[in-house]
Amino acid sequence: MAVATGPCPNCGSSIEFRAGSSLSLVCKYCKHVVVRTDRDLKNLGRIADVAFSDAALAPGDRGTFRGRSFSIEGRLVLQHPQGGTWEEYYAVFDGRNNAWISEAQGFWQVVTLAQVPAPPLQSLQPQMQVPLGQAGIFVVGERNEGTFLSGEGELPFAAAPGTKRFFVDLSAAGGGWASIDYGDGAAVPQVYIGVQTSFAEFQITERGGDRPAAKIATQSIKCGGCGAPLPVLSPGTERAACVHCNAISDVKLQQVVAQQGQSREQPSIELGRKGVLPVPDARGVVNAEWTVLGYVERSTGAPMSDDWFGWQEYLLYNVQHGYRWLVFDEGNFLLITPLAAGDIDASRAPVFVRRNNIHYRQRNSQQARVDFVLGEFYWKVEVGETVWAEDYENGREIISSEKTATEISWSHGVILPTQVVTQAFGYQPKVSSYGEAPPAFAGFAPTGSGAASPALVIAIIVIVVLVFGMAACGACVGDGDGDGGSGGVGVRGVGGSSSGGFGGK
Ligand SMILES: [Zn+2]
Ligand SMILES: [Zn+2]
Repeated sequence: MAVATGPCPNCGSSIEFRAGSSLSLVCKYCKHVVVRTDRDLKNLGRIADVAFSDAALAPGDRGTFRGRSFSIEGRLVLQHPQGGTWEEYYAVFDGRNNAWISEAQGFWQVVTLAQVPAPPLQSLQPQMQVPLGQAGIFVVGERNEGTFLSGEGELPFAAAPGTKRFFVDLSAAGGGWASIDYGDGAAVPQVYIGVQTSFAEFQITERGGDRPAAKIATQSIKCGGCGAPLPVLSPGTERAACVHCNAISDVKLQQVVAQQGQSREQPSIELGRKGVLPVPDARGVVNAEWTVLGYVERSTGAPMSDDWFGWQEYLLYNVQHGYRWLVFDEGNFLLITPLAAGDIDASRAPVFVRRNNIHYRQRNSQQARVDFVLGEFYWKVEVGETVWAEDYENGREIISSEKTATEISWSHGVILPTQVVTQAFGYQPKVSSYGEAPPAFAGFAPTGSGAASPALVIAIIVIVVLVFGMAACGACVGDGDGDGGSGGVGVRGVGGSSSGGFGGK
């Protein structure tokens, strides 16, 4: 039941629009974007040759989501200003409501068109609160732009390939998600409101359309630096650093894009190792099997200065749950789970933030820098990249933010007992030069009770002074083992991530 038909203005093939709300489509035969007007069909130019991901949804699919029927009408590929690409699905709910479905780092979002006025694009900044009518208050997570690179099927806008689309992504407490589509910046903005979800909530009843033809053979790529196999275990991987020669490759280009120097330390967990974590994370995931994808050395403060300190991070991946981080800082492992900006009440920051009505007091804020990487990453990681990182603590838990000019990312961390990491991933505590395992991290109270006793506070101060005193010795700092007492549990490459959630439609 086509709503419009005609010959492709470029190749003459027969074209059919299925959804009444579609304004353009990508001709299957010549890959030109064809827009329908009142009178005829117009050619807006050819899309880029970009391989679609081996994704779970495809145009032509039908199914239900939380009891509502949907059909996938089109797919869009956008390029993030930092270089990665991401995809979005144009869907129609209940046969009439425009919607977008997207996935970012294992988390899914479903948003449908809402009749709500949008604030001006220039007025919005990360972490700003925005009321969206009856849907309530949302928090800006990202304000950015994407370049319309490619697509297939039908699309609800008419834009030439290569043009920019401006967007703002927002979230709300309790799983709310919203995106404001500013089009090319001059268009009337459209507000889409919905939820964050997991792929398990989509019931696909009919698999239609073409499955992606060109899969990237990620399993088999070789390091361009030394020729060794470069394992790529996650489909979202953008960059991989060779464990043999340290060269950093772009996975899609299959080219070395950067070299790097030596690491400060050796990873104490083997990359590629799989393990089950029996401790629930902040999203309630427990007993999932995680694969160790990457290793990062990060630091803050000027190198060779008294305020320098460094730490290690391991990127974990599970196909169903996305990414987590295992941060090793001052002898403690923390399991880090990404949160949405709307999960955090930061109205009293930098004094404290709240999550689920629990207060977390600010511990530190600093510029966090990537010094060295091994393995694979879902963003275009670069040695030397920095973000502004803040940590808030409550007992054994922390809330962290990482902020760039366009994006803020929040995460939750909880201290894991070392034996859990040993059992899951074969971690072996290193013996320090003093013949003992490193001291427990002083920045955390040892229990979740919140208020520390005066004696404990004094003990912590003594430990901090001792540790800091040792770190101040130039030789200790220089050999990479000198850790300051203030613990930088920065969290991970949000800036430059290829995510983006909803992008400029
Ligand atoms: Zn054509
Ligand atoms: Zn290599």
